[in-house]
Amino acid sequence: MIYDVVIIGGGAAGFGCALTLASANDKFEWAKDKKYLIIDDNKSDLNAGKYFNVAGIEAGINGVDLLEKMKVQLKQYSNNELKNSTVNKIEKVESGFIIICENQTIESKTLVLATGMHKFDIEFSEVQVKENIFAPKPNKILLANTNNLISENLYVAGLASGVPSMFACANGDGTKVACDILKSWCGKVAVVHDVKS
Ligand SMILES: Cc1cc2nc3c(=O)[nH]c(=O)nc-3n(C[C@H](O)[C@H](O)[C@H](O)COP(=O)(O)OP(=O)(O)OC[C@H]3O[C@@H](n4cnc5c(N)ncnc54)[C@H](O)[C@@H]3O)c2cc1C
Repeated sequence: MIYDVVIIGGGAAGFGCALTLASANDKFEWAKDKKYLIIDDNKSDLNAGKYFNVAGIEAGINGVDLLEKMKVQLKQYSNNELKNSTVNKIEKVESGFIIICENQTIESKTLVLATGMHKFDIEFSEVQVKENIFAPKPNKILLANTNNLISENLYVAGLASGVPSMFACANGDGTKVACDILKSWCGKVAVVHDVKS
């Protein structure tokens, strides 16, 4: 099976992206059969933080609990999978990307790198790893991009794109990348809004 979008990194950005993409499927005919996968090795900054200042989120929530809430939230959409694994290598091919994990090889048409700012240790010739001058501490990285785009069908989201190290910035950046991908599919500005009945 070839996924439509694989997101590497299941932190604030990865879930922001996945939730927006997945929520489009039952709203637009052109998104109906799309399949998504998050691959994550469970080292999100959320594992270390406690959150008081995220708008709309219960003050003082532990990051691990916030992560769990996002996982549960994503389960409401059946078109999304979450795989616990480390990605070691990616190859660009004509149809998209070959993603080589610990014990499996996965194919995707579009790829989102939401891997955070600590390191990028995936062997992948398409990306340029740079010093993250927007990080509050030294020795952090970002991936060179223009408005989240690295090259055709290849996006970076969250701290790896250079946004400030705040939950809402990373989460919103993932959402923004999802909207960019939806736009590339339907050819016009795309958002996913639910309306109260
Ligand atoms: C101690 C601490 C306290 C914080 N407190 C606050 C706060 O109070 N308020 C606030 O707004 N923000 C806070 N933050 C910042 C916030 O947590 C981050 O901005 C946010 O988590 C970044 O999201 P991200 O998705 O870009 O990266 P992350 O959440 O770090 O997610 C990146 C994910 O990619 C995965 N990954 C990377 N490489 C691979 C690979 N090769 N294969 C598979 N998976 C991979 C990582 O394991 C990780 O799960 C805090 C951060 C820390 C560390």
